[in-house]
Amino acid sequence: MSGGAPSLGGARGPVLALHGGAGAFSAERIPPARIAEMRRDLGLALDAGVAVLERGGSALDAVVAAVTVLEDSPVFNAARGSVLRSDGSVRMDASVMCGRTQRAGAASLLRSTRNPVQLARALLEREQEVLLAGSGADALAVELGLAQCPPEYFVTDYRRAQLERLRARVPGEAERAVTPEGASEEEEGQTVGAVARDQAGHLAAATSTGGTTSARTSRIGDSPILGAGTWAQDESCAVSATGAGEFFLRAAFAHEVHARVALQGLPLDVAARQALQHVVRLGGHGGCVAVDSQGNVSAPFTTLAMPRAYQTPAGDRRIWILERGAGPGSG
Ligand code: ASP
Repeated sequence: MSGGAPSLGGARGPVLALHGGAGAFSAERIPPARIAEMRRDLGLALDAGVAVLERGGSALDAVVAAVTVLEDSPVFNAARGSVLRSDGSVRMDASVMCGRTQRAGAASLLRSTRNPVQLARALLEREQEVLLAGSGADALAVELGLAQCPPEYFVTDYRRAQLERLRARVPGEAERAVTPEGASEEEEGQTVGAVARDQAGHLAAATSTGGTTSARTSRIGDSPILGAGTWAQDESCAVSATGAGEFFLRAAFAHEVHARVALQGLPLDVAARQALQHVVRLGGHGGCVAVDSQGNVSAPFTTLAMPRAYQTPAGDRRIWILERGAGPGSG
């Protein structure tokens, strides 16, 4: 398993950690310009989230600010730049959870809402429904005044080519084209997520994705499902997951990390790695970012890569794109 050592080691004060998706991407497969864009946009997302935390804002505001930047970036699989479904369309999922109140919001199969994480946040605030899906969810976003975009805003040439490559494969070839970690070569990851601890010690998590390439139009993964892709509870930790969503759903992954910290008293990094091993035992792969109430950060992953970044306003700021075995939680 890559990723690793709680190198932040209990940083007191605010912390923000991001992931840009666990997946099968490597320097040979991804153009250098795209990797540079990922690095730049993760940096901009850190800036946005840390600015919130530095002015005494909430962890919830910080994760939404950071994920909004990553949704607006065309190089991540969330909102603009999402992977394409089997019919060539984009359908987007997001969720957000506040560790202080355990209020949460999530939206799935969105087609026009520019920032799915902002609809998830609005649902959290409304405290009526927790999870909305499909055209009714986009309609509510319109009612709430959230920006809408036409389908072409979300679709990039890069994702069109990715879908075409997958469609061009003869039956059976897709199964063979897997990396040693078990991920399809077309699954580059690039889902986005953020976890934060604010100055008051409160936690929050948010996750946003376009799902998986060539998925059924009605398919929903772990990202909008609380307890699978996202969890936050002040007494334990905040978690945002990424990877083959079906396995994270079956493992109740994000809640599992919380339970191992809260009920078993395990250190965050041990809890996250054990929960990830459970996903691997089920046949899945992926990773997560997590922060605990002491400010420890963990970012393990089992795939070829997982872009990730963290910053403490005390000045410790790191961004990794392709590097393995480096970073919070890395040895
Ligand atoms: N977990 C996401 C999903 O299954 C995809 C990813 O993280 O790459 O929809």
